Amino acid sequence: MSRDILVIAERRDGSLRQVSLEAIAAARTMAGEDGVVHAFVAGDALEPHVRRLLAAGADRVHTAARPAGEPYTAEKAFRDASGVAARIRPAAIVLGHTAIGREVAPRLAAALDAGQLSDVIAIEREPDGDGLRFTRPIYAGKAFEKRVFRREPWVVTIRPNNFPAPAATASDAADSPAVDSAVVPFEPDDVDLRTVVRGVVRRTAGQTDLAEAKIVVSGGRGVKSADGFKPLEELAAALGGAVGASRGACDAGYCDYALQIGQTGKVVTPELYIACGISGAIQHLAGMSQSRVIVAINKDPEAPIFKIADYGIVGDLFEVVPLLSEEVRRL
Ligand code: FAD
Repeated sequence: MSRDILVIAERRDGSLRQVSLEAIAAARTMAGEDGVVHAFVAGDALEPHVRRLLAAGADRVHTAARPAGEPYTAEKAFRDASGVAARIRPAAIVLGHTAIGREVAPRLAAALDAGQLSDVIAIEREPDGDGLRFTRPIYAGKAFEKRVFRREPWVVTIRPNNFPAPAATASDAADSPAVDSAVVPFEPDDVDLRTVVRGVVRRTAGQTDLAEAKIVVSGGRGVKSADGFKPLEELAAALGGAVGASRGACDAGYCDYALQIGQTGKVVTPELYIACGISGAIQHLAGMSQSRVIVAINKDPEAPIFKIADYGIVGDLFEVVPLLSEEVRRL
């Protein structure tokens, strides 16, 4: 069965987020062979983003021009998304499982009287070839459930780093099909908005986005102080990754809560997760256990983190982490 699927693309600091390209890949599976994948993107200087969305597999891109640097609000994002949805009446809407996706998806589902599934990590066709099965982790990642929707429309958010999508390359622009015929302008309706953003305070400026990072070096209470995070930052920089933390480290004031990974923090699924001085509480595992390769550095050989680690190093992180950085820099 073929369907029209709408992807709500997200931008961060002007760039298109990788999860939005992954959402196109997920949407292609949902659309079926003859289905149409629509994408929606808002902001300024949209042409390169339109080209990337087309190169990633979108058939049509709906665009809303908004001034450069205009702050995000859920109200505007919801209005735009529901406006485009009203125009094309898609069978499904796909967003990244990001702070924005988590905020906008339930609003869309309520407004469209649609079913909603969050944090989807896989989509497969049912054996009869028609319906779709969605897989998502439950019970803090201890189990997986498979769900089907009985009626359309539906709204799903997908976990970053779980659907294969082409990485951003400079050649996307050149390789993508003709843009003009695929672009459908959309006029945003900003009348009587109830929320106004007066200013945005950035706390983790410059850091690679945690949720989408391919490598995460994470510190726990074992790091012992804010200064103790420095060797981890150096290792992350050497590897081109991002720094994360356990809630233990955040609660102790060693780092900002924006870095917290886990049940009540961010969920990450990087290629490589290096846990330094983290015991491995179930609430922490909920945010990182789906990482492809897990390395644990802990001086306690009985630490629970070793049960899920692919590689374990029993030792003092202040000795091990600088050695790792040195080796990586040598490569
Ligand atoms: P600890 O458990 O204190 O572990 C520190 C580890 O560091 C120990 O294993 C120790 O052996 C090791 N260590 C010490 N010194 C060194 C050294 N020099 N070298 C190497 N290793 C060393 N936690 C989260 O992380 N994320 C969440 O989202 C989250 N949500 C929660 C929600 C709820 C409702 C509750 C109740 C708890 C939640 N927690 C969460 C807290 C969680 O239960 C743990 O308390 C927390 O993860 C512990 O953090 P930690 O591993 O850094 O600290």
